[in-house]
Amino acid sequence: MSLEILFYTQLGSIMTFIITLFILYRVLISQKDATIQLFQEKCSYLEYQLADAAKCHPDALAKSLSERVTNLNEEIQRLSEDKISNEVLIIEKGHELAKVKKEAGELSRQISSAHELMSEYFCPTCKAPMTERAFHSELVEYGGREIDVDHEFISFECGLSLSDGEVSNSCENI
Ligand SMILES: [Zn+2]
Repeated sequence: MSLEILFYTQLGSIMTFIITLFILYRVLISQKDATIQLFQEKCSYLEYQLADAAKCHPDALAKSLSERVTNLNEEIQRLSEDKISNEVLIIEKGHELAKVKKEAGELSRQISSAHELMSEYFCPTCKAPMTERAFHSELVEYGGREIDVDHEFISFECGLSLSDGEVSNSCENI
């Protein structure tokens, strides 16, 4: 092999190396960009979800529903003043009002079922919150054998306490 051929072979492999490096660099950069884009998408999705959750908060939802009912009522009232030309609009708004009222009904149903679920955490008389709920088991002899009997103790801020469902101390707010 002559020196010239050796030189060109060396040069060729160096060039290949540099080109490979360059391609690798581009691939890495584009991957980084893709990752950043993915993060941005995730962030905006989370932001959207948070805004949505804030909107769905029962209080906010109830407020927006009641505002919509008030606005629609006012609009219907205003349109009724010129009844003949606004008849179609009045019917449309009436339908919209019925829909909003239905949504409000659904919301109040959800709220009352939530209250029902929560009711055991509040004093049934004065609605004071629960302060303690403890369970303990007791070893008792039954028919010559020792068995575990579970007990439940619940107390509320107002003084009411229940042992296995029986009132052991009564509510002070009666
Ligand atoms: Zn009470």
